[in-house]
Formats: sequence, structure tokens, C-alpha cells
Amino acid sequence: MPVSQINQPGTLFVVAAPSGAGKSTLVNALLTNDPNIMLSVSYTTREPRTGETNGESYHFTTVSDFLERQSRGEFIESAEVHGNYYGTSKAWIHNALESGKDVLLEIDWQGAQQVRHFFPQMTGIFILPPSLTALRERLYKRGTDSEEVITRRLLAAGNEMAHAPNFEYVIINENLDSALADLTHVVKAARLRFAQQFSRRPSLFYDLGIHAQ
Ligand code: 5GP
Repeated sequence: MPVSQINQPGTLFVVAAPSGAGKSTLVNALLTNDPNIMLSVSYTTREPRTGETNGESYHFTTVSDFLERQSRGEFIESAEVHGNYYGTSKAWIHNALESGKDVLLEIDWQGAQQVRHFFPQMTGIFILPPSLTALRERLYKRGTDSEEVITRRLLAAGNEMAHAPNFEYVIINENLDSALADLTHVVKAARLRFAQQFSRRPSLFYDLGIHAQ
């Protein structure tokens, strides 16, 4: 196992999905049940939606501030999604993982690809809808969007889903309870990988005479 894979006690999860797959509901339910997982708060240049709080939903910022942070190398990943910039703080993730916290990133496939470059040991989880019909219905139910907006969302969803093969786990969200159970099992399994156990409890492994190769 490469040494780079055994230096942080926390486990890193990256969750992606097309819009309409129910990702946020699922992730929020997981976080409520599991206080050791911290959700990374991304930087974005998009406008806050009703009910979103700065510093909780996102760090809302301007394009110039975002680009300055990007040029200073503050982001572990960044991407343009639906015409806005999004980025994840490198320092925050490192600190959380170093302190033994598990970290979950809710980002798009472009970001996931960049994060994997720095953390090859990350656990990638892709959430899929149970069918195209269900996805279409969920996008329609979101409210008052025009046919054109929905068609654009469906195209974007198809593009996002084309990247599902790059993720280790796939959860089909037909029913929230069973999808949540699946996600909980994936989290548990990822924590039990050799590298994670070793980094979390090095003295136990040392006492037992087990060394990383
Ligand atoms: P929304 O603006 O609707 O909250 O998110 C739009 C899309 O941007 C979603 O697919 C979401 O996962 C993605 N996203 C949110 N934060 C980040 C981030 O920090 N980096 C990347 N690459 N994508 C993000």
C-alpha cells in the first residue's frame, strides 16, 4: 500500500449525483445519524437561495474573491457547474482528516476527479434515481420551472450520470430508508479498510506486530 494512503485517520467520502436523485436529503439523514462525519462547506459564486445561510449551506462569495482564492491554491478542487464557480477548501479538509474526523464532500464529478488525485484512498459514492421516469418526475415536482429549464436539467443529469463508473459505490435511491441503510453500510465498510484502521489505531497494530507494507 502506498505510504500516501496511510497518513490520515479520518475517512474521506465524496458523494455525487444528478440533480433530482435525492442526494441532499440522503446526505442530511446520514449526517444526523452519524456525528463523526463532517460536511465540507463549499465556496460558491452563485446567489443564495431562500433559506440558505452563509457559512452553513455554502460560503457565498464574489467571482473576484473566488478567483483570488483559486490562484492562491486554497481549493483542493474547483469547477464551474451550471454557470457558477464552486470550490472546496484544502486546509479545512486536511485539518478535519488529521484530527480523525470523517469528511463528506457533496460535489460534482469534475470535483470528485480532482479530489481523487490528492486522495486516491477516498471513497466515491454515486447516487442514482431508480429510473429516468422517476428522475423526470422529481425534476418536474421541484416547482415552477419552465419546460426549457427542465430539459436543460435532464441533459445535465445525463452528463453527470455518465461519470458514475468512476465511483466505487452506487446507491439507487428508490426509497429513502433503504438508500440510507445502503449509504450507512458503505460508510461503515470504508472505515474498516486496512489503511483506515491502521491510521486510526497505529499503536494497536504496532503492539500486534503488524506493519504497513
Ligand atoms: P447547487 O448550487 O444546486 O447547490 O449545486 C449544484 C451542483 O454543484 C451540485 O451538483 C453540487 O454537488 C455541485 N457542487 C456543490 N459544491 C461543490 C464544490 O465545492 N465543488 C464542485 N466541484 N461541485 C460542487
